Amino acid sequence: MSNSTKYVFVTGGVTSSLGKGIISASLAKLLQSRGFSVTIQKLDPYINVDPGTLNPYEHGECFVTDDGAETDLDLGHYERFLNVPTSQANNVTTGKIYQSVIEKERRGEYLGKTVQIIPHITDEIKERIQILGKKGTHEFVITEIGGTVGDIESLPYIEAVRQLKWELGGNAMFIHLTLVPYLAASGELKTKPTQHSVKTLLEYGVQPDILVCRTEHHLSRELRNKIARFCNVDPDAVIESIDAKSIYEVPMLMKEEKLDDVVLRKLKMPSTVPPDLDNWATFLHKWGNPEKTVRIGLIGKYVELKDSYKSIAESFIHAGSSNQVKIDVRWIHSEKLNDENVGIMLDGLSGILVAPGFGSRGIEGKICAVKHAREYQIPFLGICLGMQCAVIEFARNVLNHKDAHTTEIDQTTKHPVIHIMDNQKNIVNKGGTMRLGAYPCKLSNGSIIKEAYGRTEISERHRHRFEFNNEYIAEFENAGMIASGINPEGGLVEIIELKDHPWFVGVQFHPEYKSTVANPHPIFNAFVKATVRISEPVKS
Ligand code: GLN
Repeated sequence: MSNSTKYVFVTGGVTSSLGKGIISASLAKLLQSRGFSVTIQKLDPYINVDPGTLNPYEHGECFVTDDGAETDLDLGHYERFLNVPTSQANNVTTGKIYQSVIEKERRGEYLGKTVQIIPHITDEIKERIQILGKKGTHEFVITEIGGTVGDIESLPYIEAVRQLKWELGGNAMFIHLTLVPYLAASGELKTKPTQHSVKTLLEYGVQPDILVCRTEHHLSRELRNKIARFCNVDPDAVIESIDAKSIYEVPMLMKEEKLDDVVLRKLKMPSTVPPDLDNWATFLHKWGNPEKTVRIGLIGKYVELKDSYKSIAESFIHAGSSNQVKIDVRWIHSEKLNDENVGIMLDGLSGILVAPGFGSRGIEGKICAVKHAREYQIPFLGICLGMQCAVIEFARNVLNHKDAHTTEIDQTTKHPVIHIMDNQKNIVNKGGTMRLGAYPCKLSNGSIIKEAYGRTEISERHRHRFEFNNEYIAEFENAGMIASGINPEGGLVEIIELKDHPWFVGVQFHPEYKSTVANPHPIFNAFVKATVRISEPVKS
């Protein structure tokens, strides 16, 4: 199949943030729903080797794959749309490309040649794009090129895909995403920025086959014809992408616009089986017609930038749809919470989620939120650092170890209930060195968590250096906090829960990375169910 793998390159013009990731994921969904196997890849033009060392304020959440890659958050969208796991190969950065080229140069693999952007960097990019096609499992590889056409940083990528299109001939095509702005003063949609950005692409030797135009108003037939005429594309290859209420509506909109039909026609692929989005439509219907509203607090320190907790927010949408409830997520800054105001700040919540994180900022606020959830019997989910906070809170306020802490923050505590994992002790490098990716976990019978999953063996993705200190396990269990999920290989505690509480769970892993439209995550599903049980109807 490798010879016949079709490559779709998605570029962006005019401005960033037009949603190339969502357009790529929506096209992939449509092709998948016609029975094709599809994968999506993101090329990121920054020099970080991966986004793992980036502050979430810079680039949003860092998404983690099963094979332990720290990646761009767009990979989360790809998985949520397609329900197929991505891997290391699905996210390439300039840092990775240069690292690999420089390592090859040091090994003498370029046989004395001067190493240059063309051909060495571009060849490396081309190879990384084709790795996914060569696996032989995908009929389509959709490659999203980060940044905006014209950026200095994305030039080597545009050059690489230009060459690749030449080499692959009819097996490759270009989609260019642009903006058609609306001028309110004159009441007009303007095509000039699109024309200019296509001209820029043409200067680099790339002729787009399809233009997807982001717009706030419908594009008339006349306007589509005009864009087609100026940009050398077929009129039906000018696709309208009108602002949608939710990213999950975009596959439906792209279906109406026949984006998949045009792609299949350009690549000479059969289009006899129509896209089947029935399950997707059911998901949207249930989500759009909630029977109840529940209010859940998300306690974190990056709440000003909602992309920092992207996968958690999306998991709530999936679980909201499957429970047919609207989830009103209240984003609460952990730094602003303290013992005095916690009652007021968390008033009216039917559920409390304490978010993952690193470092000391806001941690005492998170611990206050845990205490509130524990004492007032409010359904609680702690994720990673959130779980660690639940352990610390229990040690301080139930076991009476007043100075209990994690050694991430207090290395001199007499009660290090959370401590560094043995194999993390001597690691100095920050990038890619945490406990990353999927690990198995065994659940205890009779636990809340076993009930949520309906089975005892699970696999979930991790991203942490610290863990529950097993020296304390008996003391915790005797007092009512039990370890209900254990890693079968090393005995690490992966899940804690409270016995005398309607629903109180802390997980060392990140369930949010595995929630998809087709498979809402069992933990989020069960958490939302628990919040519905205790909540009174709230007017939305
Ligand atoms: N900082 C904690 C650790 O490294 C938790 C990490 C997280 O929440 N992802 O263990």
